[in-house]
Amino acid sequence: YNGSVLTNINLNDRGSNKETHHIEIGADNIEYLPGDSLGVIPENPLHVVEPIVDLLGVKRSQTFSFRNQEITAFELLKTKLNIFYLPERVVSKYAALVEQEIPATKIGLLDLLRIYPLKNKEQFAELVNILEPISPRLYSISSSPEAHGAEVHITVARDKFHVNDEWKCGLCSDFLSQLPLESNVEFYIHKNNQFRLPADDKDVIMIGPGTGIAPFRSFLAQRDATDAGGKNWLFFGDQHFVTDFLYQTELQNWLETGVLTRMNVAFSRDTKEKVYVQHKMMKHGKELYQWLLNGASLYICGAREPMSVDVEDTLLQIVEKFGDKSIEQAVQFVEQLKDESRYLKDVY
Ligand SMILES: Cc1cc2nc3c(=O)[nH]c(=O)nc-3n(C[C@H](O)[C@H](O)[C@H](O)COP(=O)(O)OP(=O)(O)OC[C@H]3O[C@@H](n4cnc5c(N)ncnc54)[C@H](O)[C@@H]3O)c2cc1C
Repeated sequence: YNGSVLTNINLNDRGSNKETHHIEIGADNIEYLPGDSLGVIPENPLHVVEPIVDLLGVKRSQTFSFRNQEITAFELLKTKLNIFYLPERVVSKYAALVEQEIPATKIGLLDLLRIYPLKNKEQFAELVNILEPISPRLYSISSSPEAHGAEVHITVARDKFHVNDEWKCGLCSDFLSQLPLESNVEFYIHKNNQFRLPADDKDVIMIGPGTGIAPFRSFLAQRDATDAGGKNWLFFGDQHFVTDFLYQTELQNWLETGVLTRMNVAFSRDTKEKVYVQHKMMKHGKELYQWLLNGASLYICGAREPMSVDVEDTLLQIVEKFGDKSIEQAVQFVEQLKDESRYLKDVY
């Protein structure tokens, strides 16, 4: 699909350690279901592409054939090739190309070119052959086809990390966070049939801290728009109540209108002892177990580790304690939920 950016706002307030962007993309005839993800291939940032072009001494407008397409050197480096952070296998091919001993490590092309320059300009064509294409990244869709029409929304955490006393950002989350209004963005829909809402009259329990909230905003908007009768219980968590309560107004509205039957939140850094979603699950374990006995489906979205592992451990403890079961019986109970597609995860 070809879309246009309609909104790009940071959901975190000033003073937060986080930067989570709510991005709305308008596009005609988009087909997706709640639970699907959006796939996007990011572009390399100009502050990396420009110095590489200069170092290579290649003419920006010089054309190359790349995957049966004629493309200029500049566009190739900006939109097609992974130059940002090269895997070891590419670094070792580069070492062979420049006939130098280079330690087996991940590194950006810019640093590589600075430390181990190409032997001559003509090697650029060979360099293109060893570089790999930019890989797509997935983002859980946070809008609903019934509620949001010709728009698709995503919830993107800008991945910031420290390397050698320098702040760096992940390629795609940085690219998306910086997208200006009305800019074009190409994307595709990545279907996820393993993460679907149950029948309208069935209850759901959703555990989605941080950006894990994304598909549940989609679920709730969809259930609201279709007047689905099943009950909805959300567990959300993040660092601070004041700065990091993503989609707070919408969620509280859904609580008031009854779309959300229950909402429990955990803000880990507001108290001396860290409180996470799994602690809130345990606190309300008796009711949670009762919902499961009544046929509810349980969904988890967000960080694979440690969140989804801790949540699963807690689920087992809840079943053990409130179902008066041995740990083996609790494991069996959860296995049964999986077999019935009532325990679903979308974790990354
Ligand atoms: C099904 C699915 C759904 C997802 N849904 C969401 C979602 O709703 N919201 C969301 O925010 N994310 C989501 N993700 C994660 C998302 O796809 C990306 O993985 C995430 O945004 C990071 O990608 P990036 O390109 O920004 O970082 P990358 O550039 O891929 O970097 C990833 C990591 O590599 C390391 N790294 C990269 N460059 C360097 C460097 N120069 N030096 C040292 N280390 C480096 C860092 O550790 C960094 O954290 C989802 C993933 C999946 C699989």
